[in-house]
Amino acid sequence: MTISNKLEDSHKTVAVIGGGPAGMSCALWLKQLGLFPILIEKNQKLGGLQQASHFQNVWYLGLSGHTGYELADIFQQHMAAENLTILLDSPLKGIIKAGEYFKIVTGTDEFTARSMVIATGQRIKGYEDIKSVQGSHEFLSSQRVCFNPGATPLLIDKLDRQVVGIVGGGDNGLVTAIRLANTAQHIHLFVRSQLRGFALNQQEIFKLIQVGKVTLHQLVTIEQFEVSQENICITFQDEKQQHNQVILDYMCFRIGFAPNVKDIVQLLEQGQVGALELSQGRYRKVSLKI
Ligand SMILES: Cc1cc2nc3c(=O)[nH]c(=O)nc-3n(C[C@H](O)[C@H](O)[C@H](O)COP(=O)(O)OP(=O)(O)OC[C@H]3O[C@@H](n4cnc5c(N)ncnc54)[C@H](O)[C@@H]3O)c2cc1C
Repeated sequence: MTISNKLEDSHKTVAVIGGGPAGMSCALWLKQLGLFPILIEKNQKLGGLQQASHFQNVWYLGLSGHTGYELADIFQQHMAAENLTILLDSPLKGIIKAGEYFKIVTGTDEFTARSMVIATGQRIKGYEDIKSVQGSHEFLSSQRVCFNPGATPLLIDKLDRQVVGIVGGGDNGLVTAIRLANTAQHIHLFVRSQLRGFALNQQEIFKLIQVGKVTLHQLVTIEQFEVSQENICITFQDEKQQHNQVILDYMCFRIGFAPNVKDIVQLLEQGQVGALELSQGRYRKVSLKI
């Protein structure tokens, strides 16, 4: 299908790439400002990372108690009520410079836009980010590992009285440790540098360390995993260059997020639109050279 937008419409057309909370909010605002947003989402549903969260919201004002899935549905209903143009299941195939405009090609549609918003969010860092560690490929077929924070098995029967290893000292790692502390027998928290989570989460972790529920292994480098039917043996080097081993029943990786721009960078180059630059800082600055 081709969205038939006339040239005078194209002038007001904005391609919003990514149907997570940011892309949806952006499209909504653009409509209220008198522009014509077209929201492009590669998945079959809107919602982005909220579609991966079974946790109840405590952050969005007025929406407390809703899980991420429910929030995604509520946002989607709002979009439908506003009659916005949404292309679902429509991966981006091309961004081609056409004078002052962009020709946007997706798996299902093609249209011309004057502007473009990239709201493709982040991906959860997972296996591909640890695959250089010896033995990590065994996680691919193991039930003893969880990379997705939204899939953390919080149910007591799964982790009750189990020894759990958590990798990552950001808020995701700390919150996972705090949540599992009620059910797990013991938690080993592996952090390669400093704890980066909110002060409140750090304080909770230090309380759990004091009562003997959590062991913090800080400034460590993980060297090897040996994953078997029964357990996981993790070998790591500590700050004194000593090699240590711990036996775990289950592991959660909470090693951060990476921007979802790999495909977009390629398409921008192929379409001769320009280059996306990401700065190396903790927060990433994105600039488009056109
Ligand atoms: C387990 C978990 C729990 C969370 N709990 C909360 C909470 O309680 N409260 C809260 O406020 N936040 C929570 N968050 C964070 C929240 O989900 C994110 O901050 C939010 O989803 C970010 O929105 P976004 O639109 O920037 O990106 P994303 O949600 O990542 O959405 C990006 C969208 O872009 C799409 N996309 C990517 N590339 C392309 C492409 N090339 N073409 C087309 N589409 C593309 C993706 O499919 C995705 O739908 C949680 C996150 C997780 C993982």
